[in-house]
Amino acid sequence: MFSGKSEELIRRVRRALIARRRVQVFKSALDDRYHGIGHVSSHDGTGVDAIPVRSSLEVAELVHPDAQVIAVDEAQFLDDGIVDVISALADRGARVIVAGIDMDFRGEPFGPMPRILALAEAVDKLHAICMVCGNSATRNQRLVNGEPAPYESPVVQVGGHESYEARCRRCHDVPSAGRYQIDLLTALQAEPAEARVLTIDSLRKRA
Ligand code: ZN
Repeated sequence: MFSGKSEELIRRVRRALIARRRVQVFKSALDDRYHGIGHVSSHDGTGVDAIPVRSSLEVAELVHPDAQVIAVDEAQFLDDGIVDVISALADRGARVIVAGIDMDFRGEPFGPMPRILALAEAVDKLHAICMVCGNSATRNQRLVNGEPAPYESPVVQVGGHESYEARCRRCHDVPSAGRYQIDLLTALQAEPAEARVLTIDSLRKRA
């Protein structure tokens, strides 16, 4: 969220435009909290025009047959069908640039992103800075009234009063999962290495 991924998407789109490629930019309509609809903007206020979409079907319907470069921002909010849509576009020779958050507030894979990451020719994982300790941040901490949001809260909170900040793995806090981490530490200290994989699996099921 604070890693500069939209800036990076905009930078690549600008370069494609300078190269006179036919470019189309889409973004999930869910993400209208910071950005005006119809625009992909970065935290520094620069932007490019984008088509807001609510589903992968809309991308398929709205994509121009002659588009050479197709960019999709906030792809984590789109349905799994986006994987097939962008694969088909890449198969027909288009360059597809996708930006999205790979982990949700729980630190778990977000929507279609894992499959997109697996199928991509190139992946750049951008990091923010942890707001607690200053190390490289890979996760988004959801806060409700300044407190860490529980694991059970919905992945996409619409119209909530929550805020987010970048955090590293150590400083990322999801209350119900905290119990699992303490359980895991105790289990790892008590059991030999061979049993650990099994222990992690069984704890995951319980958590
Ligand atoms: Zn940290």
